[in-house]
Amino acid sequence: MIDSSTDRSQPLVEQVPVLVVGAGLAGLSTAMFLGMHGITSLVVERHATTATHPKARGQMPTVMEAFRVAGIDDAVRRAGYDTSLPMEIVIGPSLLGTPYKTLVESFDFDLTSISPTGMGMASQEAVEPILADRAGAWGARVQFRTELDGFTVDDEGVTAELIDLQTGGRRTVRADYLVGADGWRTTTRGAVGIGAHGHGALSHWVNTIFRADLGAPMEGREFALVYLQNPELQGGTGVFGGTDEPGRYVLSFAFDPEQGEQFSDFTEADCIEQIRIGIGDLDLEVELLDRAETEFAHRLADSYVAGRVVLAGDAAHVMPPTGGQGGNTAVLDGFDLGWKLAMIIKGEAGPGLLASYDVERRAFGEWIAEYQYQNLLQRMTPGGAEKDGGEAGRDPLDLMFGSRVVDGAVCPEPDDDHELVEHVVTADSRPGSRAQHVWLQRDGEQISTRDLFGRSFVILAADPAWRQAAGQVSDQLGVPLDVQVVGGDDLVDPAAQFAARYGVGEDGASLVRPDGFVAWRTEGAADPAALADAVRRVLSLSTVG
Ligand SMILES: Cc1cc2nc3c(=O)[nH]c(=O)nc-3n(C[C@H](O)[C@H](O)[C@H](O)COP(=O)(O)OP(=O)(O)OC[C@H]3O[C@@H](n4cnc5c(N)ncnc54)[C@H](O)[C@@H]3O)c2cc1C
Repeated sequence: MIDSSTDRSQPLVEQVPVLVVGAGLAGLSTAMFLGMHGITSLVVERHATTATHPKARGQMPTVMEAFRVAGIDDAVRRAGYDTSLPMEIVIGPSLLGTPYKTLVESFDFDLTSISPTGMGMASQEAVEPILADRAGAWGARVQFRTELDGFTVDDEGVTAELIDLQTGGRRTVRADYLVGADGWRTTTRGAVGIGAHGHGALSHWVNTIFRADLGAPMEGREFALVYLQNPELQGGTGVFGGTDEPGRYVLSFAFDPEQGEQFSDFTEADCIEQIRIGIGDLDLEVELLDRAETEFAHRLADSYVAGRVVLAGDAAHVMPPTGGQGGNTAVLDGFDLGWKLAMIIKGEAGPGLLASYDVERRAFGEWIAEYQYQNLLQRMTPGGAEKDGGEAGRDPLDLMFGSRVVDGAVCPEPDDDHELVEHVVTADSRPGSRAQHVWLQRDGEQISTRDLFGRSFVILAADPAWRQAAGQVSDQLGVPLDVQVVGGDDLVDPAAQFAARYGVGEDGASLVRPDGFVAWRTEGAADPAALADAVRRVLSLSTVG
């Protein structure tokens, strides 16, 4: 059949729901979680492959919980270092020198009362292909050697120009939304007029990857991460670390463009000399595998959203890597964006829900970037070892699990203190907080409350009357609501903890978002009107309907 309405003089424009720029941790996570929620995306990446430098090493338990929702937590855990083995993080003059300060001796925390999963210790270069595979399995198309070369935005969507870097061919793509996950050198942010603030550019680094036989001194120290403070080292400071591959290591040293130094000044011989100083063995046999340039900066976007353009990962928040949170934050941006954009595109939420991504993730980005900055002053500033780092006075568990979403897609209680980070041990699953992990049983198998979340909004209640209330609200608003009745025959609560840990008593309910944060709760009996009101507020739905 001939479609006479088609104007064949115009090139066909490819349509996609979401165009993601950048196949790093932020872009691939966004694509994967969008795919999990049924929305396909096109991911364009100018490089030929995912990351070839180890960079981010280590996944926080909250990231592993997100990966568990996507079914890739085991693959990530297998790809990385075994966290039950010793893992030292120190400040010292060299790998072999006596440390000035020990920051961490082990990550073998017992988290079983807080989370159904633990930490991961895989490198970015191992994680990105896992994300890309799962994103692809859920319908995302990842196109390498493809560059975004400008775009325009209107009220209905984004029109983007792409270049195939292999052939030079150009094409136009039309998307409902564009996600700028284009890293620390983002052009997306500037193109939509979003400014940035923060401590600015901090230092410049040569990151080397090398192979060496470090022999006996590395036995039992395969993980060692050493922040170097040593006047012999170029720039006086640096960092040494292992990778997922035995015998392959990374070492970074600083250079100063204001002193006329450039990345290209450092020859292979210079790099090998710096590696030997950082190791503390000036005769060591070293095979230099690669080197790359990085800027450490503290640069935070003034907004993460401009109309139909959304920023994620380093494009939104560049932070020094001291403390290992940049990549983790990038993944969690994608986790949040996935369900929010998907619900908006499917018409289950109002476009206003996107504003909550900005409010929630920006607040977290500001907080975590300052934490990393304080760590930089301590760990990678000559003479800084005696300073307090970002963790000063804080329980490490709070960093892992204590962050809240306030002023976003939640219905805070009247007495909410609006604290962004709370102490996880005393937290009580109030709106804005992490929905607590409680071990339950289903079909004789242990299951965490956390395993009930991820795909949709979930109502957790002891009273089965919430099933009918939720069904009514779901039909009325067109929003899927999954009801899990805890304490009955289906979900057994062996220690009878649920009602107290969720603060909902025997009659009430907790409304949990797909990312496992509590959106709303009540101690009152099943009430469709109250539930509908909460769902509307959280999802920016109009009061009509
Ligand atoms: C030495 C070092 C160590 C680190 N260690 C840790 C750590 O231990 N833990 C941690 O959590 N974080 C760590 N980080 C930080 C972490 O690597 C970053 O936060 C993370 O890479 C951010 O991911 P992203 O997806 O936002 O950006 P990126 O990984 O930078 O990805 C952005 C991608 O966008 C592509 N791109 C840009 N513009 C275009 C365009 N116009 N068209 C197409 N593609 C484009 C780029 O090629 C790039 O691949 C470290 C960083 C460094 C440098």
